[in-house]
Amino acid sequence: MRPETKPHIVIVGGGAGGLNLATRLSRSLGRRGLAEVTLVDENLTHMWKPSLHEFASGTKGNEDEISFLEHSNRNGYNFRLGRLSALDSEAKTILLDPVRDSAQKLLAPQRILHFDYLVMAIGSRSNDFGCKGVSEHCMFLDTPKQAKKMQAELLNLCLRLETGALGDGVSKLNICIIGGGATGVELAAELREATEQFARNGIDKLRDPSSVNITLIEAADRLVAALPDQVSEKVAQKLRSIDVDLRLSSMVEEATADGVRLKGGDMIPAELMIWAAGIKAPAILKDLNTFDIGSLGRLCTKPTLQTTKSDPVFAIGDCAECLWPEKGTSLPPRAQVASQQAEFMEAQLRRAIEGKPLEEFRYVDRGSLVAISKYSAVGSLMGKALGTMTIEGWLARRAYRYLHYAHESAVQGSWRATVRSLLSQAMKRVRPQLKLH
Ligand SMILES: Cc1cc2nc3c(=O)[nH]c(=O)nc-3n(C[C@H](O)[C@H](O)[C@H](O)COP(=O)(O)OP(=O)(O)OC[C@H]3O[C@@H](n4cnc5c(N)ncnc54)[C@H](O)[C@@H]3O)c2cc1C
Repeated sequence: MRPETKPHIVIVGGGAGGLNLATRLSRSLGRRGLAEVTLVDENLTHMWKPSLHEFASGTKGNEDEISFLEHSNRNGYNFRLGRLSALDSEAKTILLDPVRDSAQKLLAPQRILHFDYLVMAIGSRSNDFGCKGVSEHCMFLDTPKQAKKMQAELLNLCLRLETGALGDGVSKLNICIIGGGATGVELAAELREATEQFARNGIDKLRDPSSVNITLIEAADRLVAALPDQVSEKVAQKLRSIDVDLRLSSMVEEATADGVRLKGGDMIPAELMIWAAGIKAPAILKDLNTFDIGSLGRLCTKPTLQTTKSDPVFAIGDCAECLWPEKGTSLPPRAQVASQQAEFMEAQLRRAIEGKPLEEFRYVDRGSLVAISKYSAVGSLMGKALGTMTIEGWLARRAYRYLHYAHESAVQGSWRATVRSLLSQAMKRVRPQLKLH
């Protein structure tokens, strides 16, 4: 089907890194006929993962989703719906599992795709560290499907409380989040905002703020431990001010149908439990036995982002283990890393195709921001002129929103991103502040 002369670049995973890269490559190489670009994803739509907690709480609608079919058509790359299940680096092929709809009807059969260059960008999953009862009783926030399930579960819980279906005399909801990193913190604040919105939208039993207990459990002695102390303190202060109960230095021993048991025996009752305590790479990577697998099951890469065992196979984003020489650790699983790597990979693949020497990826840490729902944001910004600067409030909130805008600009173009952002702001004024169905 494809002309043999054009190198075929296949990207697996259309998330923060993969979609960004597919867009850049199709504009720079695809449209000029210098390469054929194919993006594979197991879903039909892309959702900016750092917004998942807002979808899960119902405070954000799905207007930000991007259809791969439409996007690929407009930008000039191929999209293939499929789930990667095997990789042969000698034959330079990948195998895609069949995809079925909810009624188990076949949407796409098993297929083999040939590549000249392959970029793995399949992200990460929550890591339950084998903790007892977690996979049965806790919800996770890794995919849009899980976020939608959580939103439905939260709505149903609120309805049950209101109608008395939760039991005679039950007047409180207990929500427990395990993991005080950025995901857990942002989710706790968003759930507080969502339950306040429920109270304003007909769930009268939630009008008393003490009718919802939100507990955030963290094993370390401070929240967002990857960020500076000062940021952790401010985040803790802000969460306490919206009545989130913080349980620091607390290890979860077991999750049960009734709640979470801590080491030491304390039981925290909960109707809704969300596990957000760390990540690992998707399990499929371990089965691709030609690769070096690093900590958290990620693909080990050289500084060029080539995997250590196969030069034509690159890895970016959360599924890649790439050294951060300045810190002596591996790069953190952040959207900022994935998008910088996508930008770098566009030029890197051009060099590879032109037979030029490859360069080494250098990560520039521009800081991190944690959103406390509509209430605030806290974080640190880094720059040569600035040094490290802690910011909070309105400015931090704008900077946090800018991250999503920058991603939208990269994948949609700045004109389209601006219009979508303005429309989204306008929609907020005319539709309910919360998804209620
Ligand atoms: C709630 C939440 C808040 C966050 N907030 C921030 C933040 O504020 N700032 C920040 O920098 N980072 C944040 N992150 C982390 C950030 O979202 C990730 O680091 C980033 O999305 C990683 O990008 P990626 O491209 O590697 O993977 P992803 O964006 O996860 O994309 C992976 C893609 O691969 C696809 N895929 C997976 N497996 C397969 C397969 N076998 N076959 C085919 N396709 C597959 C998936 O469908 C998905 O489209 C947050 C994460 C969460 C969950």
